[in-house]
Amino acid sequence: MRLLTALHDAEDTPRTVTASGESVSRHELLGRASALAESLRGVPVAAVDATAGLPTIVAITAGLLAGVPIVPVPPDAGTTERAHILRDSGAAVLLSDGPSGDLPTMAITRPGVSGSVPPEPDAGTPALILYTSGTTGPPKGVVVSRAAIAADLDALAEAWQWTAGDTLVHGLPLYHVHGLVLGVLGPLRIGSPLVHTGKPTPDAYARARGSLYFGVPTVWSRVCAMPDAARELRSARLLVSGSAPLPVPVFEELTTLTGQAPVERYGMTETLITVSARHDGPRRAGHVGVPVRGVETRLVDDAGVPLENDGATIGQLQVRGATLFDGYLGHGSALTDGWFTTGDVATIGADGWHRIVGRASTDLIKTGGYRVGAGEVEDALLLHPAVREAAVIGTAHADLGEQVTAFVVTDGPVPEKELIDFVAQRLAAHKRPRVVNLVAELPRNAMGKVQKSRLRPS
Ligand code: ATP
Ligand code: MG
Repeated sequence: MRLLTALHDAEDTPRTVTASGESVSRHELLGRASALAESLRGVPVAAVDATAGLPTIVAITAGLLAGVPIVPVPPDAGTTERAHILRDSGAAVLLSDGPSGDLPTMAITRPGVSGSVPPEPDAGTPALILYTSGTTGPPKGVVVSRAAIAADLDALAEAWQWTAGDTLVHGLPLYHVHGLVLGVLGPLRIGSPLVHTGKPTPDAYARARGSLYFGVPTVWSRVCAMPDAARELRSARLLVSGSAPLPVPVFEELTTLTGQAPVERYGMTETLITVSARHDGPRRAGHVGVPVRGVETRLVDDAGVPLENDGATIGQLQVRGATLFDGYLGHGSALTDGWFTTGDVATIGADGWHRIVGRASTDLIKTGGYRVGAGEVEDALLLHPAVREAAVIGTAHADLGEQVTAFVVTDGPVPEKELIDFVAQRLAAHKRPRVVNLVAELPRNAMGKVQKSRLRPS
């Protein structure tokens, strides 16, 4: 099965450009990757030093051509995390142009780049072993098949009308679904040139002059903080946000500055991208869209009983379809009748629109017999003009079981009571925070996700 169909096109102009100024045509990329693919034959699993440069793209492409599962290793992983990923994944070699004492190393960049293109393996063969972001615990190894990647990219191409005529711009890390599966394999399947900016800075996005831009919410919030850069994106066709909740004020500001509302989409390593706003449909702040082609979703209660899609009932989100993973490394598939329980809590409207309330483990707060979604309280806090960032968790309370506790980053000091009253005016009384902690910053990981397990009340 050919996964990277556009890579094989004879047409030679669309290029992959990286921040260091390296640029290759697809034809050159195919040559370099094929040469490396030959050396990979017989290797069970190969790790790749996933820096933001062209060698990473060559190495991952080579693995996909050879049918050797690739494990991208974050360049900023600490020594413990790196050792865990290398051991846990069973990688036999490390593809890297740098020195490394971890594993037998194979150079990516090699002289004499021809190499015949190997026949590609079956659709069900594992393509990637991706580690989750580690937001709620240690990163988990997720086995993703070629068929799942192909199904997801084709569904997104349809939802976003993403074509070979687009130039994709992003500066996301190349070891998660967002930056790697969508951001690198997408262009190589669909045929659009890729400009990888190294880091996702507003300046770099403004200069790149693309038509399709990917960013995590912190990227879009930084773009809004530089209105001149944001206005340069007026000529773009589509701005896409995902990986974490896009705060409503950022959605609105980006819409004003760029003249278009961003398309939000939701997914996870285990399921790839399953829900999205559509290019030809409405965009709604605070909502992540409708299921993409080939994917079904539903809400269930704690006992697994399906709930109503009425836009108000909060339940555990389950996903079924062609984009799902094969299983966690070393464990079988984690599905019930094909349904995967995402661990996220959400509402679904009668019109199919999804709103992610948060994570079942940290964001569903059980207080005095009520269930409060942290996301709703965070959204209310963000409406306060002095609040720049907000994270809400439940903390132990003798009487209520849990109490709603907020952590906020503000422009200057704001009295705790003012913020509590501000939320109380907008939401039901039991949803207001009992405690508000002013903090200098929120703990976030490389994808800009708040690590709530690291929040502790003062
Ligand atoms: P870990 O599983 O290791 O704790 P993680 O869940 O953050 O980390 P990923 O698979 O990278 O690892 O992220 C998937 C999660 O990101 C989803 O389960 C969801 O909570 C969150 N997410 C992704 N997109 C969105 C979005 N558009 N809005 C809100 N949350 C999102
Ligand atoms: Mg997860």
